[in-house]
Amino acid sequence: MSGESFNPYRMAQQQFDGVAEQLGLDQATRNLLRVPDREMHFNIPIRMDDGSYQVFRGFRIQHNDARGPCKGGIRFHPQETVDTVRALSMWMTWKTAVVDIPLGGGKGGVICDPHNLSMREQEALCRGWVRKIVQYVGPERDVPAPDVMTSGQHMLWMLDEYEQLVGHKAPGFITGKPIGLGGSLGRTEATGFGVIYAVREALGEQGLRMEHTTASVQGFGNVAQHAIELLHSYGGKVLCVSSWDQKEQSAFCFRRKDGVDLKQLRSMTNSYGEISRAKAADAGYEVLPGDDWITQEVDVLIPAAMENQINRDTAPLISGSVKIIAEGANGPTTPPGDAIVHEKGIWLIPDFLANAGGVTCSYFEQVQSNQNYFWTRDEVISKLDTKMTDAYYAVSQMARRRNIPMRDAAYMIAIARVAEACKMRGWV
Ligand code: GLU
Repeated sequence: MSGESFNPYRMAQQQFDGVAEQLGLDQATRNLLRVPDREMHFNIPIRMDDGSYQVFRGFRIQHNDARGPCKGGIRFHPQETVDTVRALSMWMTWKTAVVDIPLGGGKGGVICDPHNLSMREQEALCRGWVRKIVQYVGPERDVPAPDVMTSGQHMLWMLDEYEQLVGHKAPGFITGKPIGLGGSLGRTEATGFGVIYAVREALGEQGLRMEHTTASVQGFGNVAQHAIELLHSYGGKVLCVSSWDQKEQSAFCFRRKDGVDLKQLRSMTNSYGEISRAKAADAGYEVLPGDDWITQEVDVLIPAAMENQINRDTAPLISGSVKIIAEGANGPTTPPGDAIVHEKGIWLIPDFLANAGGVTCSYFEQVQSNQNYFWTRDEVISKLDTKMTDAYYAVSQMARRRNIPMRDAAYMIAIARVAEACKMRGWV
């Protein structure tokens, strides 16, 4: 699904410029916030298992730290680009601001395909990534976390390397750590659960109930799986999910009219969220082309895979039954896609609000790590629910009051908070 020629950084800047204009931001603040503060691009040479050497390209991009240390995940992806990481770093700044946690925005990445790397090679990549940027990151500077194709294991290797280099324990350096090793209960579920808290409130505002809701989900990774789990526990049904097929280098959809069985699908899925087509077909799922998740006759669409999925070409295919789109992924809808969704009267909960549960729980993890005192899962989940619900209403009230899309309202709140912090620090 490519649609219009797509550059996520240009899209993030276009979104920013529109809202900066509406907010009447002065030129210096615009110049400061429309580009990242600092970028690191570097080589990571790795000795491969067969004795050969390969050089991977790594990045860490820090967009803004006026409200606190930079915060954001690290993606391992073969199609990673500098502009993608730039855009993602900007969205992290708005994400931490919209849920009002004392952190800034950053993002990291490595151009690689973990499918083709052994665990030892991945460990070497994680340690090499930390060695290249150790002086620019840390609990008080920039705090990484998992993202696409990185997990708690990767975070622990990175933490270990960091601690070896600085010579002391520093659990606040990274979040998304495994439970028992500084991780927070509830962190794995947090992003997916947060998406559904936002959906729950949006349905409530429309007088609809979770137990009568149907959804179609793009992706079956960490975010999607936990969103489905919570939606099911509220009594809703997911009729269709899509997932990547590494062998075919293409996505496929899996549909069941009476709803997918999460536990069963998980039993036929690898650690990257890739569902086995053969097993799903045997279990009675209809296997459809990868783009079909968007055409389903459901109440809610949850894009929880990659950028540029709802665009000029695909947005017109959305069924008239869809009332809500909740963006589990970062940047799934392009500005032309947004315009079509808005025209159709669909209530779109934008990415940096809908998927902020992950970083919110990362913040809880930092607080627990720093105190060396860990909360129960119920405490974490209920604090997460409160934070997400409050942030949702702050945005939806502004959207209704001003009669603007949710994305614009979320941007207005976030950008105003960051601009204010920059101003008060005397930067602009
Ligand atoms: N990678 C996640 C995101 O895009 C989480 C970031 C974090 O916890 O720092 O929001």
